[in-house]
Amino acid sequence: MCGRRATLYLPYLDRYVCDRCLLRMNFRRFRKYMREHKAKRYTLVKSRSSSYYLMRYFFSKGGLEFKEGSKGNVVSTTQDELAEMVLASVLGNKKFKLGKKIMPMSVIPEREVYRLCSHLKLPLVKRKLSDISKFLDSVEKRRPGVKFSLRKLAYSLKEL
Ligand SMILES: [Zn+2]
Repeated sequence: MCGRRATLYLPYLDRYVCDRCLLRMNFRRFRKYMREHKAKRYTLVKSRSSSYYLMRYFFSKGGLEFKEGSKGNVVSTTQDELAEMVLASVLGNKKFKLGKKIMPMSVIPEREVYRLCSHLKLPLVKRKLSDISKFLDSVEKRRPGVKFSLRKLAYSLKEL
């Protein structure tokens, strides 16, 4: 679209994007989320995951002040992880509660997180997939947007 070489296909938009457009698009998603979830201070809950490194990059890029710690109000849960939490609670009896945590990465699909980490030379630490993640991946392939819908459901229900 922009003339640069496309690196990723986005099934839910039926569009190919290049790394720079993907970055701009996701940074915009991040900022929109942060505008809607303002807090006095941000402490990012440290984790060894790509979504954490990308989230920290977005905080710096957005000029947001933050601390890092083992406890805090901002977690790096991705859209995929949130969708899995919702489905797991529907399938089993693990109760789902959205809680008060700020989850800016929940607006970003995991595969886009990985793509951006390799573009930005951030550590690529892939998450181990559970049965539910594999199941959701196969559904997502046939019905792009399912994870997005589950994430939306999480926000509308807050508790399940
Ligand atoms: Zn582009």
